Amino acid sequence: MLQPKMIELENQINCSQKHNLPILMVIFDKKLKREEHLLCAQCMENFESESKMIGFKKTLKMMEEHQKTKLENIERIIKLNQDMVESLINQIHKLKSDLNQQLDELISNSIDWIKSLNNIGQANTTYSFLDELEALINRPKENIFNQESIIDQIKLNNDSLSAKIKIKLSNLQNQDLYKQCEKTLGNINLFPHVKSLENSIDYQDECCALSFNESGTLMISGCNCEIKVWNFQNGILNQITTLSGHKWMITCLIFSKKSNSFLSASYDQTICLWMSSQFYQKHTNCIDCLILNQTENQLISGGRDFSIKVWKVDFQKNQLSYLYSLDKHKNDIYSLGLNQSENTLVSFDLNEIIIWKKDNQQNWYFENLVTLEIQSLGSRLSFINDHQFILGTGNEEEDLISLFELQNEKNLQLQIIEELKLFNSDGIDANLFPICYNKEKKIMIFKQKLHVYIIQISNEDKLFNIIYYWNINKGWKLFNNLGRYWKEV
Ligand SMILES: [Zn+2]
Repeated sequence: MLQPKMIELENQINCSQKHNLPILMVIFDKKLKREEHLLCAQCMENFESESKMIGFKKTLKMMEEHQKTKLENIERIIKLNQDMVESLINQIHKLKSDLNQQLDELISNSIDWIKSLNNIGQANTTYSFLDELEALINRPKENIFNQESIIDQIKLNNDSLSAKIKIKLSNLQNQDLYKQCEKTLGNINLFPHVKSLENSIDYQDECCALSFNESGTLMISGCNCEIKVWNFQNGILNQITTLSGHKWMITCLIFSKKSNSFLSASYDQTICLWMSSQFYQKHTNCIDCLILNQTENQLISGGRDFSIKVWKVDFQKNQLSYLYSLDKHKNDIYSLGLNQSENTLVSFDLNEIIIWKKDNQQNWYFENLVTLEIQSLGSRLSFINDHQFILGTGNEEEDLISLFELQNEKNLQLQIIEELKLFNSDGIDANLFPICYNKEKKIMIFKQKLHVYIIQISNEDKLFNIIYYWNINKGWKLFNNLGRYWKEV
């Protein structure tokens, strides 16, 4: 474990007046420089300021906490890199023993070659008296030594043995083990990096949803019951406009990947298709989750009326039409997920997972219900392929990410494959900011309570790896790198 260590001793820190007295307070004022921030008892006697002040001990504690989080992140990243190098070492060891074996075989084949040449010599040492006598008398001019025949024999022998060795030599060059090593080496360089942009924006109001357009040049963010539209270029966000119409907190935003429109859902029970500014109401309570299929013609919403509504979307005509309702849940619906081929829909409430399948008319029907032991106040759900999905759950005692697998197509079963414990902090997590999953890079951005995690998903023994996380303790700060990262990784 890396431990943070301050280079100065606490009593070596002096005020700007050099009173050599213990520091009592720290002034949090950007205009001041270094020691000017520090006040000892003597400094404080005549001190007067409007600036924010924090006790010296508390400042030290804040700094230490900050350093601890920093070191935890560093340690995690170093450990992950070391693990990858370790697996490279194992592969090189395998390669080494495999190579040794192959080279030994090559040497032994070559020794055999020498022996076979000896054998050819040996095979020519015997002769028959009567045969040779015939030759001696009848063909005296003929060369006693039949050179061509010997050379043919040697050639034949050389051809067959050199072919054998040639194959083995070329196998040495394009080995699977080499490729594995190269792949591991490549993976180390592919290690994702998160860059936080400097211009994070302090939000005065609650932001519960944000979404980027396909090219990453526009961002929309919820701001209570308004939507702010931002231009995003060179890492800088500039607000273009504010859209109003919703009567209560906006909980979900989905930017179309194919058009310049987007959808919003709110606690006011309505869904809006922008820019037509038409509000559609079918839910009878707050809407908490919203998903759009890949062709962008079907929208599915879930809410606190225990109901899932299925809608037809037409971004070209700017129309949303209500199709039907799926009513099987007995609690608030917190999250929805579609698998990759979009033939399975999974919904989750407080503790029940419902699996829905598509019938011949392409309508969803109830397939199976699974009750979990956990009671989750808020959740996030995302498929990572056709049969596995991630579910993030949490309550006062425990915050978890679980990987579930749908097994047995006829009679669907759920199997928990792996679980990862997260920081458990007090309070209820609203189901805001759904999981962002990047299929190609197998990277997931996951917000749970006060932390945002960047999680790598692998096919190896350990399925989840937290590669980076940060704390969003300081109010509702808008992390614009979230979407940017999503675009770039
Ligand atoms: Zn002083």
